[in-house]
Amino acid sequence: MSALPLLGMSEGELTAFVEGMGESAYRARQIRASLLKGLSFDEMTDLPKAFRGELHRRAVTGIPRIVKALGPDEDDTYKFLFSFKDGQAVEGVLMAYRYGNTLCVSTQVGCAMGCAFCASGLGGKVRDLAPFEMLGEVVAAGAYVRGARALGPDRRPVDNVVLMGSGEPLDNFDNVVTFLKMLGDPGGLNMSMRHVSVSTCGLPGRMRALTDTGLRVTLCVSLHAPNDGIRKRLMPVASRYPIGEVVDAARYHVRRTGRRVIFEYILVKGVNDRPEHAVELAARLRGMQCHVNLIPCNPVDHADFCAPAPAVTARFERELKNAHISCTRRRVLGADIEGACGQLKRRTVTGQEPPEGEDP
Ligand code: SAH
Repeated sequence: MSALPLLGMSEGELTAFVEGMGESAYRARQIRASLLKGLSFDEMTDLPKAFRGELHRRAVTGIPRIVKALGPDEDDTYKFLFSFKDGQAVEGVLMAYRYGNTLCVSTQVGCAMGCAFCASGLGGKVRDLAPFEMLGEVVAAGAYVRGARALGPDRRPVDNVVLMGSGEPLDNFDNVVTFLKMLGDPGGLNMSMRHVSVSTCGLPGRMRALTDTGLRVTLCVSLHAPNDGIRKRLMPVASRYPIGEVVDAARYHVRRTGRRVIFEYILVKGVNDRPEHAVELAARLRGMQCHVNLIPCNPVDHADFCAPAPAVTARFERELKNAHISCTRRRVLGADIEGACGQLKRRTVTGQEPPEGEDP
């Protein structure tokens, strides 16, 4: 890749770049503000035309192209397929909640973790995303929703970011940490880390390292099982790191930050959904400041996993609550636009058409 992605430059680097073209530092500030709004060089109409032409010759914005966008559906969910300069693509989902817009960001193309219920890891990991590419997902989605619906002047297009798209964030640790710092940059998007969640399949050393960065993000841990036996059926990573070590690393996070940890638990019919599994899970988490998010398993093509009946899910929830574990069931959003975890990319790449009439 020869042309420079400007979105990846710090303020100082961008200023030096602009000054190298004979322009003043003021132009760097203009470019930065426009990049964060997701504008292309052509749309930066506050810049002289000749300068824009020169930018085209020497640089690229670094903002991914949205090659496919679905939504908003009935739940106010949008689904995006972002494509980068090398042609690789990742998915993103934006959920418009009453309290703000949440964007689910991908951190890798593909994933090396190979969880049995997840579509993202089917082809293995293709590559890590660079920090500016993750930031690019945020600004591209932001530009899209700003264009698609009337946002008030003080409403941000993206209020919350969750690292729950394709990839294992802590397997791309340094880039993810740099991306988080970019999100929080007071001269940039200035997003509070309280509005950012990092979800991991449970790499204990990296979880502790994330805690030690001092970035006060919400840590989410994909536990999905009450013990190693069941966890190994769902997640290969469980053979490397025992569940006890994962939960210990979560306890370390709570101790160091004073913030609760969220445990994600996909309910898979006949695998991890029995009342005694809930009791075992509660015992494992006893005394920890935490919350359990119960997620009915979305069906995936490659495995015959499915969600238990609602009554089974309700029973599981009740058992946890009886044991004084805070928990909620996650609403399934975006299922009617293939928005629910891992489906859009495969359909698009395999050439199947999305449901009719959902293209914006
Ligand atoms: N690698 C990280 C981030 C990926 S997001 C991690 O493992 O946490 C992982 C989340 O995607 C899971 O916790 C779950 O919430 C969701 N997910 C993946 N496949 C799913 C499926 N088939 N049904 C429901 N949720 C799924």
